[in-house]
Amino acid sequence: MAQIRLNHVTKSWGNFVGVDDFHLDIADEEFLVLLGPSGCGKTTTMRMIAGLEDPSGGEIWIGDREVTQLDPKDRDVAMVFQSYGLYPNMSVWENIRFPLKVRKVPESEHKDRVRRAAEMVELTQFLDRKPAALSGGQRQRVALARAIVREPQVFLMDEPLSNLDAKLRVSTRAQIKNLSHELKVTTIYVTHDQIEAMTLADRVVVMKAGVVQQVGTPTDIYDNPANTFVAGFIGSPAMNLMEGDLTDGTFRGENVEVTGLSGASGKVTLGFRAEDAQVAEAGQGAINAPVYSMELLGDATMVTVRAGGALVAVKAAKDYRAEIGAPVGIALPDDITHLFDATTGQRIS
Ligand code: ATP
Repeated sequence: MAQIRLNHVTKSWGNFVGVDDFHLDIADEEFLVLLGPSGCGKTTTMRMIAGLEDPSGGEIWIGDREVTQLDPKDRDVAMVFQSYGLYPNMSVWENIRFPLKVRKVPESEHKDRVRRAAEMVELTQFLDRKPAALSGGQRQRVALARAIVREPQVFLMDEPLSNLDAKLRVSTRAQIKNLSHELKVTTIYVTHDQIEAMTLADRVVVMKAGVVQQVGTPTDIYDNPANTFVAGFIGSPAMNLMEGDLTDGTFRGENVEVTGLSGASGKVTLGFRAEDAQVAEAGQGAINAPVYSMELLGDATMVTVRAGGALVAVKAAKDYRAEIGAPVGIALPDDITHLFDATTGQRIS
């Protein structure tokens, strides 16, 4: 059992706060992803759980032990980093076995455990090779096997896929998902890639400038972003966000008028997702503007127009075509819009 508790954990250097009051319970066997842009504090948070960084305040618990002051080696966590950190002079077999030697696991267990870990990441045929004779994806799998072989209570993974090319990233991502299902080990995974977060996580923590913005399942944060930062970070494309005024249930901004809304009056940001809106005839729909660009995606056509002080994208049918500059309407069906306070960015409805 390894639930993890971060009890009001803070990290600062002088006046600079890298992680601000991080408070969260992570369930046993949960796959938790820390997501955010560069510098938001996700790696620092993970390094504090690993014991590589001392918190300035708060407590960290793993299972029923407080580990805040423990050395990394006493925390029973295994880490996988972006740089694989393999020993170049050792074979794949020796690299995977290394943690067992360090931890003085009886020799008689090594062979079985290494073989099992290697099988899980499909490395069995490479066990005699040196890392230099492996591809990037294979090296990353050696690093994974070296973490798996320890059978730790917790896996910590820091951008493990970011050195791989796009295609390999997708297949290795699927492999990590499958592994986590089999191994059932509590995992904390750091990434700035929102697609990785959405595909892998049981829950996602979105961070910005050291502060947690939202914690939720991928569906929660996609369907109900807590603020404009989360709305604009999650999704490909991210949520469309338009500036305007809300008066008596009607939102008005550049090229846009949406009726039938509720909520307070004043300056607001109105959001909607590209796939929830529909392209309509010019003069119809809530948005009316000339086509700014049209992109063929294969399975859909993305139409972009300017409205509410921003470029907004709508997913149309794959055979939809329009000239750039031609007038077009965009219909926003009921209940697809999200309202945010224009000043604070917080969700209103
Ligand atoms: P990236 O994706 O770029 O790795 P991150 O979200 O993981 O970003 P962190 O590495 O956690 O970010 O860093 C958070 C903030 O803390 C950054 O602004 C960073 O510059 C700062 N920081 C990290 N280590 C130190 C340090 N030793 N002294 C001062 N500031 C630091």
